[in-house]
Amino acid sequence: MTKLFENDAYIKEFRAKIKGIVKEDKHIELDQTAFYAKSGGQPGDKGEIETVGGKIKVLDTIKENNRIINIVDDIKDLEENNNIIGKINWDLRYKHMKMHTALHLLCSIIPLGVTGGQIGYEKSRLDFNDPDKLINKDELEEKINLLIGDNHTVTSEIIESSILKEKPELVRTMSVRPPEVDGKIRLIRIGNVDLQPCGGTHVNSTSEIGKIKIGKIENKGKMNRRVNLLLSS
Ligand SMILES: [Zn+2]
Repeated sequence: MTKLFENDAYIKEFRAKIKGIVKEDKHIELDQTAFYAKSGGQPGDKGEIETVGGKIKVLDTIKENNRIINIVDDIKDLEENNNIIGKINWDLRYKHMKMHTALHLLCSIIPLGVTGGQIGYEKSRLDFNDPDKLINKDELEEKINLLIGDNHTVTSEIIESSILKEKPELVRTMSVRPPEVDGKIRLIRIGNVDLQPCGGTHVNSTSEIGKIKIGKIENKGKMNRRVNLLLSS
């Protein structure tokens, strides 16, 4: 299965063939897809699939044994090898891309281990191992908006996972292992600001994120602090 979003996160509409159907679960698998499957803290894409029989809704997109599965509202009389047009709910996905890129920037500003995170439409969060309470909300908001305004380019590259073993400092998340496919790992580079393994979708340039507001910094137990992040548009 070709993941179209890995090379171009801006594909909103694409053609594909149905590769597999599980009728009782209303699950569809395509031969190639621009629908992002829920993983690494980023929610799965929603949208629409157009077929000869009409339109069906994509309610969610999930990963199952490394396959990308669309959960749809109606299976109709779909069959394997049918041609379809997939349409991503772009409003939702673009917000996730902005949020996701902003979380990378947040990570680059705070030199602490990341213990968890979740991307959302209205609000996202990252949890840090911060027993000494070093994180300062106002300082964080100023720094992240400066990085956004600097208009850094966001690019991806694929490397052998053995290289990563020599540079373990690249893996910032303590709870999530980077996605590895056939011994290779995808890295996301934000200018000279951040470099880390990631399988998600990001904007091409930090200025697309717009102004970020840092919400509450919450204490989660003795060690962890949660930074909440909101988009202004
Ligand atoms: Zn990412």
